Amino acid sequence: MRPPHRVWAEIDLAALRHNLARIRRAAGRRQVWPVLKANAYGHGAVAVARTCAAAGAPRLGVGDSGEALDLREGGIETPLLVLGTVIDAEVPALLRHRVEVGVHSESRVRMLGAAARRAGVRLGVHLKIDTGMGRLGVRPEAAVRVARAVAEEPALELRGVMTHYASPDGCLDPATAEQTEVFRRALAEIAAAGLSLPPIHAANSAVLFTAGEPFGDAVRPGIALYGILPSGLPGAAKLRPVLSLRAQIVFLKDVPAGTPVGYGGRWRSTGSKTRLAVLPIGYNDGLPYRLGAEGRGAALVRGRRCPIVGAISMDYCTIDVSRVEGVQVGDVATLVGGDGDERIRVQEVAEAAGTIPYEITCSLGARVRRIPVDRTEPAAAGPAAAAAAFLGA
Ligand SMILES: *Cc1c(COP(=O)(O)O)cnc(C)c1O
Repeated sequence: MRPPHRVWAEIDLAALRHNLARIRRAAGRRQVWPVLKANAYGHGAVAVARTCAAAGAPRLGVGDSGEALDLREGGIETPLLVLGTVIDAEVPALLRHRVEVGVHSESRVRMLGAAARRAGVRLGVHLKIDTGMGRLGVRPEAAVRVARAVAEEPALELRGVMTHYASPDGCLDPATAEQTEVFRRALAEIAAAGLSLPPIHAANSAVLFTAGEPFGDAVRPGIALYGILPSGLPGAAKLRPVLSLRAQIVFLKDVPAGTPVGYGGRWRSTGSKTRLAVLPIGYNDGLPYRLGAEGRGAALVRGRRCPIVGAISMDYCTIDVSRVEGVQVGDVATLVGGDGDERIRVQEVAEAAGTIPYEITCSLGARVRRIPVDRTEPAAAGPAAAAAAFLGA
């Protein structure tokens, strides 16, 4: 039977739980606060949040108040933290849905305090200190002032002090230790000013997997949850990829040598008979344009690797299936994930497209159906099993 979707992403919840367990082991006594911003890095935030909440995650990180709202509407009651900042128009939703937010200036503290008082609620905030990222966050020398402003505002409650690391290499980069040192000094000043310290949180995935003892009381892993670590970092092999991206073949045809394919005709067939398959997935769905333009992409069909040929369009791309025996319309093509003995990893796609894995998963388009798959048998993996899972479920 042909799959019921043109293009879909299978989200392997068993792999997610496996990765959470690995993360917990690396975190030791620290709390693990999974990061689900950007729709859980493109994986679909509600299903990921449910899995994390069921595994006991005490807090989840999101990117903005809209994402927090989506989780509340999806029935997630776990404390939520907007990791960055919010604009004024988002504040009523934060207050209504008990969503915490990072603060990094006295004026922000006053504004949030006034809004919380008017609403008659107490708003949880996390003081964000810039220790070297150079983006959001109060400068370390001003941290005490902002911490005091929070302490003096009865409608605000300081629930965390945080910083964010800049290096993709975690503790393998000396800049990370320097940031920790700046953070430590700022925390010591806050304590010396007689202000009580709430939970301290700093480590992202890269730091968590490279530090013997990550600094702080809680860690905020994102990419590792999804089974990905920036390449070369220790621990990557022990994580399991959560995402598979698949499409079904919608058209097949045989073309003679010299046939141009796609916009600009930048690729031409060479063999005397080339079999082309059209897939209903394009750059709008998150397949990077550069994969086609530079002839670097591939898809798996019936366990064989097939090159993407010609430019990737908005809605479609074309692959060369000449070497696939018995290929048919309706066959599953895997752009990310495993099929038989072959596997295409997100890291591989990112490298081929000249970007980072984060951008690949976050760019999955709205048309891509996210299908949570909860298979406990790893042996059952693969497009056929997945198709059976959502047809039979
Ligand atoms: C995205 C994010 C994280 C998670 O980073 P990963 O590299 O995906 O582990 C942690 N903290 C903050 C503030 C973030 O924005």
